Amino acid sequence: MPQKPILFSGIKPTGVPHIGNYFGALKQWVDLQNADDKECFYMIADYHALTSVQDAAQMRTLTEELVATLLAIGIDPERVTIFKQSQVPAHTELAWIFNTITTMPYLMRAHAFKDAEARDKEINVGTFTYPLLMASDILLYDTNVVPVGQDQKQHIEYARDTAEKFNRIFGDTFTLPEAYILPEVAVVPGVDGQKMSKSYGNTISLFASREEVEKGVMSIVTDSEGGRPENVYAIHALLKPKVELEALYTEHEGKYKALKDALIGDLDAFIAPMREAYQTAMKDTARLTLIIEAGNAKARKYSEQKMQVVRKAIGTIS
Ligand code: ADP
Repeated sequence: MPQKPILFSGIKPTGVPHIGNYFGALKQWVDLQNADDKECFYMIADYHALTSVQDAAQMRTLTEELVATLLAIGIDPERVTIFKQSQVPAHTELAWIFNTITTMPYLMRAHAFKDAEARDKEINVGTFTYPLLMASDILLYDTNVVPVGQDQKQHIEYARDTAEKFNRIFGDTFTLPEAYILPEVAVVPGVDGQKMSKSYGNTISLFASREEVEKGVMSIVTDSEGGRPENVYAIHALLKPKVELEALYTEHEGKYKALKDALIGDLDAFIAPMREAYQTAMKDTARLTLIIEAGNAKARKYSEQKMQVVRKAIGTIS
């Protein structure tokens, strides 16, 4: 077992991440990897994605693109473990065990479930039990820290509660994880000022072309009153230190077009190197496969050791 504290996080292969995913979570994946004081596990959550991506070709492509995305933003497979959830059977095995100790009313309080149910009454069981698969993901690795955006906070609490409940029933087995959420990027706003989210159609893609950046920035909703276009400023604040930004917005007070142009320039300059790195990574799909297979093997080994402890604790093996 590694000695360093364990860091774990995951992302679903549901499409190219947006800048909200990047600043809210993925950037911390890179920074924490570089801090080099934790053992990092980064998971492609394909079984979580299966609740919405139900086409084999699409699943394959989205997964490959996500591995390339992680490399493009600076995740280093030599220093961290990148793996695919579906290839590590312990995740679904432990999720079943958690199903048996969790009550329906408790899961029905989950915000994500309530939102999904409000949108579509016929939601699948996987969407309902999602927090327990996520609890398994996290708890299998004796995780201490989980870097995520604010929208995942409740799910980390579910993982903690589930660990506590299991420990109470079967004896001390799981470490209680802590969410790692940076307040200034906990909820990155989209072009309409609401939380940036694929389901709200208000995103700017992490690998957007110059034209897409222009289109995205031009669509940012601006209030006709006041000198400072708040939604433009909020996205700009992701890219520039506050002092510089204040000076820029004071200089161009009331000139929304000039401020949007400045944001286009800054955003494009920021995205361009990652966009190129992504295109390069996508050219070598054999490498992407090798990286993920090596990660899968590591994650399988680690989680299988933990499952042996769990199986003993519940009495299915002696
Ligand atoms: P999931 O969390 O279900 O995999 P996403 O792909 O939407 O789905 O999220 C990936 C990561 O990005 C999560 O840690 C999530 O909290 C974070 N995230 C998503 N949208 C935002 C946002 N607008 N602001 C900050 N963080 C976000």
